[in-house]
This record gives sequence, structure tokens and C-alpha cells, in this order.
Amino acid sequence: MTLYNADKTDLRSDVLDDDYASEDLARDLPKFSFPNHERNPRHVYDAIHDELMLDGNSRQNLATFCTTWLEPEVRDLMAETVDKNMIDKDEYPQTAAIEERCVHMIADLWNAPQSAQTIGCSTTGSSEAAMLGGLAMKWRWRDKRRAEGKPTDKPNLICGPVQICWHKFCRYWDIEIREIPMEGDRLIMTPEEVIKRCDENTIGVVPTLGVTFTGQYEPVAEVSAALDNLQAETGLDIPIHVDGASGAFLAPFCDPILKWDFRLERVVSINASGHKFGLAPLGVGWVVWRDQEHLPKDLIFEVNYLGGNIPTFALNFSRPGGEIICQYYNFLRLGREGYRKIQSACYSTAQALAHQIEKIGPFEMLYDGTGGMPALCWSIKEGADVPYTLFDLADRLRSRGWLVPAYAMPPNREDMAIQRIIVRHGFGRDLADLLVEDMVRAIEHLTKHSPSKSLGREDATVHDHSGR
Ligand SMILES: *Cc1c(COP(=O)(O)O)cnc(C)c1O
Repeated sequence: MTLYNADKTDLRSDVLDDDYASEDLARDLPKFSFPNHERNPRHVYDAIHDELMLDGNSRQNLATFCTTWLEPEVRDLMAETVDKNMIDKDEYPQTAAIEERCVHMIADLWNAPQSAQTIGCSTTGSSEAAMLGGLAMKWRWRDKRRAEGKPTDKPNLICGPVQICWHKFCRYWDIEIREIPMEGDRLIMTPEEVIKRCDENTIGVVPTLGVTFTGQYEPVAEVSAALDNLQAETGLDIPIHVDGASGAFLAPFCDPILKWDFRLERVVSINASGHKFGLAPLGVGWVVWRDQEHLPKDLIFEVNYLGGNIPTFALNFSRPGGEIICQYYNFLRLGREGYRKIQSACYSTAQALAHQIEKIGPFEMLYDGTGGMPALCWSIKEGADVPYTLFDLADRLRSRGWLVPAYAMPPNREDMAIQRIIVRHGFGRDLADLLVEDMVRAIEHLTKHSPSKSLGREDATVHDHSGR
């Protein structure tokens, strides 16, 4: 390339100009119509890099459950694996072998009867994993009904206050969702409420380990025992799929006594998000079945045109392999011991925060980080005379970059607004202290300059992260 050409001064200035003095960055960039010309890659990179500053700082996002802190080795592995397509198991046999190893390790972690023979796969996240687990239950229910010569047109699924993926699953696959609403202080499912809703058309019950709204664990073992009784009395044999999006990578390390997994015979499948407390980078989830019998064969496709004859059960086709490789890195790097240390640190930060936040305002802790995820949530005490809402507080905290979402609860507690913090890897005690100081200042400010018209839930929808 010619660096200097007297006739082409444009080219020269293009090469020598400071990026921000360049032609490219002297105007705004196209946003709605497809660009006609090329641009200098460095200029385009700068423009996009700069725009992304406005996204804010993910580490201060206390709404998300997802990984925002990564070891340098994980970043290296991600960069080295950008070209790996997870579906192309013949082209990338080692990536496929690594995925398979992760499935067995996870099955072992969740106490599958024979972890070497369990069947499972990676997905893009818990949502896809939940769909696959749900489909397997629907198929098994339908096969059984057909064999008995009974109608199969009215399947239903029972759950507590679930993450949106189960609403999607039920709507996309024509299943009635029997979601147990919150009542009073009961914010999760109970065995009694589950049993009330069971009938011959129930494809399965889905307890959540780490309910999205509060962080609490639903009582899997108790629900399982109640379903055992129901079977003894009525013959109805209803399986459990556990949505362990967060909890399936927490309980095995921090509460190994708690029975929620394949130790319960009735649990036929479990999903988890590798990119939440599995600590992998964004884009990986897992679903594992108790044994091969619980994944109907006609859900599996054999793909042979990539070479080889590879069975696949997935909603996607092509997808990146790096997250899975990094999940494997985490398993080897941390082991049970490392995960336990990291998650325990999160629990103690969550509990300490709950203790402090309770004291700085008229707040009632609804969940304090014990008996569920490393999270906390609170509401304003009933009858407390405060000149601001939790939506105002959330808004004020944004001025320091903190995202501490306030949102209304789902039915039947829409009347209650709460605020929630998820404590993740990378959010330590010192940062937590700084957050509390900012909260104290925000409360002082809102008390002194009480908003003339407070923010309500309708103002908060843009920032509603309750579902993540
Ligand atoms: C986050 C979450 C999901 C969805 O998981 P993704 O990995 O974001 O697809 C499903 N269920 C629960 C309980 C969750 O917390």
C-alpha cells in the first residue's frame, strides 16, 4: 500500500490522521440504511467501542444472574475458539468430546444413578434446556396416554412462580400452564398447592431451585414425597423436572445434604445455566436426563451431512463452542472445592448485605441469602411513611452506575414492589460496602428532596430485570 501519494492526499490523511480527526468519525455513522462504502477498520472499531461505553458497567449490574467476571485464561480460550461450531462434531471431535465430558461431570455432580450412561447436552442457556426437558416430558406423557387409548389433547404442566421460559415453553408447545400464584407471605410452591392441581393430563411438575423473583429454593424433596403419596393413592405417576438454572451449580457445592437432584427417583431431568453460577461465559446451558429411557428416541435427529452420523437434540443448529470449552476449563480449574469457595464467598456477602440494608431504611428483608441463592430482596415495610418508592431508589442508584432493580411481584402479589440483588462471582465485600454507602446517600437525598411524583412500576419497565 502506498503511504504517500501526492495525487491522493485523501489516502495519506486516512492513514496518518488521528482516529478522531478522521473523515469517518467526523460525522455520525449510518444507523438505519445499509452503508454504501468501506471504512477504516480502526475507525469503525473506535466508534463501536465507544458506543458500548453507554451500556454501563456489567460488574455493577446486580440484577443479572449471568457471569460478568472472567479469568484471563477464559478470555484466551474464548478468543482461540471463535471458529468452533458446536454442531459440527465431526469437524471438531475434541470440542464434541469436551461437551460429552461436561455432561458426565454434571450428571455426577447431580448424583445421576450411573453418570457414565446418562444422556444430556449443552444448549444456549437454561431456556433452551428447559424446552428440551419439557418436550421429553410431553412426549413420554403422550406415548403413555396413546398406549392406554386415552386422549392427548389437553396436557398441563404445574410450576410455582416461574421464569418466563416456562411460559414460552407452554405457549409454543400448546400446554396449559398451571402456575401456582403467590399468596400472602408464601412466595413459592408448596406440596399441597402442587397436589391440588395434578390430574391425568399433567406431564410434569417443575420446581425451581432459585426462584427468579426472590432467590428462594422450592421444596423439591417435599413435592416429590407428596407426588409419591399421590401415586400410592391414585396411581398417577407424575415426573419432576427441576429448573436448576442457578441452584444446580450452587446446592451441590454449598448445601450437599439438600436432596433436590437425581437422588430423588421422581426427578427425571434437570436444567442449569452454565453462564450463571456455572461461571462460564455467556451462551451455555445444560440439560441432563436421569437415564436414556427418559429421553424419547423420536426427539433425537441423526445428522450425517457434516460427515459422521451424529445424534442431536436441540432447537438451534450452528452455535459457538467456546463457552462449552470454558465450562470444561472451569470444572478442571476449580473442582468442587473451588466452586464451593467462590459460591460461599457470594453467600456471605449476600447475608452481610441483607443485614446492613435492613438497618439503613424502613425495609423488610423478604429473603436474606439463606436457604436459596446468594441473593437478597426486600420491600418497604407495610405502613412505613416514606416519601419515595423503591423505584425512586433504584433510579437514584443508577447515577452511581449501580443497577439494583425494583419490580412488582407476579400474581397474586402484584401489590408488592420489591428490590433485589444477586451476588455473583466478582462482587466482594468491599464493593458491597461501597454500595451500602451509596444507598445511604441515595436514601438521604430522596428523604430531603422527596420526589413530587414518585416513580412507579410503570416507569420501571424499561429497567425491569426481574426475569433475568
Ligand atoms: C435465568 C433463568 C432461566 C433462563 O435461563 P437462560 O440461561 O437465561 O436462558 C430459567 N429459569 C430460571 C429459574 C432462571 O433463573
